[in-house]
Amino acid sequence: MAVSITEKNLLGTNTVGLSKEKSAQKRAKTSILSTGKIWRSPISWKITLAVFATILTVQVGIFGFTIQGHEQGILDRMKQEARIGIMQAIPAEENTAFMQSPIDKTEWSQLSNSTKIVGLTVYNSHDLLMLENYGDSPIVQIHQAQDITKTYWSADGSFYEFTLRPFELNARPYIIVARVASTNVLDEKIEYAKQRMIIFFLMASFVTSVLMLALSRWLLEPILFLRQSLLSAANDAENPHLIEPPFKTKDEITQSINIAHSLILENAKNIKKIKSAAQDQIYNLAYFDQLTFLPNRTLFLQKLTEFTAGEAQSDEDHVRRAAIIILDLDHFKDINDSMGHNVGDALLKAVGKRLRAALPETAVVARLSEDEYAVMMPLSSSINNSVDVAERILRVIRMEPFKVFNENFQIRASIGVSTYPDHGHDPNQVLKNADIALNRAKEEGRDTLKEYTADFDRAVQQRFQMLRDLRDAMEQDQLELYFQPQFDLTNGEIIGAEALLRWFKQDNSKEGGSFISPAVFIPIAEQSGLIVPIGEWVMRKACEQAMKWKTETGRDIRVAINVSGAQFQQSDLVAFTKQVLEETSVPPHLVELEVTESAFMDDIDHTVLTLKALHALGVELAIDDFGTGYSSLSYLRQFPIDRLKIDQSFIRNALNDVNDASITRTIITLGRSLGLKVIAEGVETKEHEAFLVDEGCDEVQGFRYSKPIPYDDFVAYVNKYSGKLADFS
Ligand code: C2E
Ligand code: MG
Ligand code: MG
Repeated sequence: MAVSITEKNLLGTNTVGLSKEKSAQKRAKTSILSTGKIWRSPISWKITLAVFATILTVQVGIFGFTIQGHEQGILDRMKQEARIGIMQAIPAEENTAFMQSPIDKTEWSQLSNSTKIVGLTVYNSHDLLMLENYGDSPIVQIHQAQDITKTYWSADGSFYEFTLRPFELNARPYIIVARVASTNVLDEKIEYAKQRMIIFFLMASFVTSVLMLALSRWLLEPILFLRQSLLSAANDAENPHLIEPPFKTKDEITQSINIAHSLILENAKNIKKIKSAAQDQIYNLAYFDQLTFLPNRTLFLQKLTEFTAGEAQSDEDHVRRAAIIILDLDHFKDINDSMGHNVGDALLKAVGKRLRAALPETAVVARLSEDEYAVMMPLSSSINNSVDVAERILRVIRMEPFKVFNENFQIRASIGVSTYPDHGHDPNQVLKNADIALNRAKEEGRDTLKEYTADFDRAVQQRFQMLRDLRDAMEQDQLELYFQPQFDLTNGEIIGAEALLRWFKQDNSKEGGSFISPAVFIPIAEQSGLIVPIGEWVMRKACEQAMKWKTETGRDIRVAINVSGAQFQQSDLVAFTKQVLEETSVPPHLVELEVTESAFMDDIDHTVLTLKALHALGVELAIDDFGTGYSSLSYLRQFPIDRLKIDQSFIRNALNDVNDASITRTIITLGRSLGLKVIAEGVETKEHEAFLVDEGCDEVQGFRYSKPIPYDDFVAYVNKYSGKLADFS
């Protein structure tokens, strides 16, 4: 495999400066390849010891064989020395017959003194006759011819015996067995071994060193280099600090290093790729709305902040202004709930797309929350007014219906507008002001745009003040219930009364205060959650009053209690209603709960369950303000309701607006076909009543009969009532 690794590759995408890199490389190279480092490595030690031990073992083995020969050499030398001594002691020419030893006592004593000989036996060589014995008698004795080659070495090594034959004695006719003291042999052997050992050690060291030098060059250095590369890859796999291999030779190890390097670099590249893909994904999730792929709130605010920060630094006269627009789709929830989330999602995408396409590149179009979009567009000399931008957006939305799954949806939107820096320098503040303006637009009946003005802030402050006052009023028991009677249109009987909350807010005026409309304070209570305790108070109070009027009037008059959507979703309405029914002992069929359609639509499954549970308690259920929300027949069929309450706006206009008249008619027909009672509210005139009678409406409620009145008035009213609707003028 041909591996080519360039220096650039090896160093990876290191951001360190070139000179820094080079010196680092140099440092690393010397540190990896320095002999010190090699010798310190455990593998070096193991190989060194193994080589050293092997050489030493082989040498010692060989020494084992040579030591025998050396010993023999010493013995032979001793024999030679003894022979020379003996030769000198034996006269060259002998007159005496060889029946007599040629060594006399004096010579023996000289001989034993000057040599290591400690004993001698002299034989004549003709008949092996022992002629004389001197000193210690040798153990070796000559009795027959083959004995003449015998030697003997005592077990403790103290003496050595050998035989000298005639040819070793200048052809004299004797055989001499000599015993020499040999204690020195062992010492000499030890001395010899010591010398050998030193030589062996030096040789082993030398050979080991030479071998290790070769090994370290060809094996250890590359292995340690590879180890260093792997270590640096393990430490930082993404940016491994690789050094170009300094090895010239091409062998299996250097090839392995090159392969390892390319794998490490490939791995680093992959990690970077995966990381950057993951980072892209995280960025995408963090900053983009996953449905429309428009920027989300975070990115929108970031862009806005960037813009304002850039402008803040510029010359005051040249500060660019920007339109900040928040757009909220009207009644989107209804579409989503009734048509399904697929349709809702497709619509949201389509709206996003249309907005994006309608605005220039310089504009940031974002989706802030479910059906809320935001636009930030720097103003220019051609478009220098935020409201113009907002109007353009409104036109674009209204322009033509959105076609989704082959259905046309005519979408309307409410828009809040603010301008940087006119309505704030802080990005959060300008966005918040656009939001305040949006709320205003929604309050003013939607499908409209509102530009932020400073009064809005005041309005917000007032709402906060009102919320505080309402909480106090609630705690100080300043809330009261009024009742508005409801009549059966066919027989004129009072069949019920709607409990309506009244708050007489005390002030310093000469009237001592004024009534605040529930249409004003109920939405504030709903937004803050205060509606839950208020609603509970209303229900308890209304049931108590209904029980009371049952005894005081002797008639079964149902009480209709308004239940807010917030209450419907938040509190445990069923359990609470059950508790109140038990506590007040009011017959459940004399209690009706009015809920608006919008409260139903948030969570259909929950709605159906709650309604069924309430119905199971025996209370009646009515849909309030029917016709204003997004009514869906399929849902209506699922709900266990008893009554539809036509919104008063239709009744008010029924006589002069054909649309409202036909809506009223339709609701009545619908109610009948579903087997529900239909009650009309806001009946103010005789004509209203006549119209409703004609259309077959079941029940009525309105100023024509009575405004909402305090409890005592209501009881008096009931007791005084003639029973005939015709009596109302
Ligand atoms: P709603 O439930 O639709 O109540 C009917 C409203 O129409 C009442 O206004 C009532 O005074 C008014 N009304 C009745 N007959 C006529 C008429 O012939 N002509 C005209 N122009 N108006 C008529 P009110 O009392 O100001 O209440 C407004 C809304 O406040 C109620 O509308 C209801 O949604 C809410 N509300 C009132 N009391 C409570 C309550 O205790 N709890 C809850 N959650 N909401 C309440
Ligand atoms: Mg009502
Ligand atoms: Mg109503």
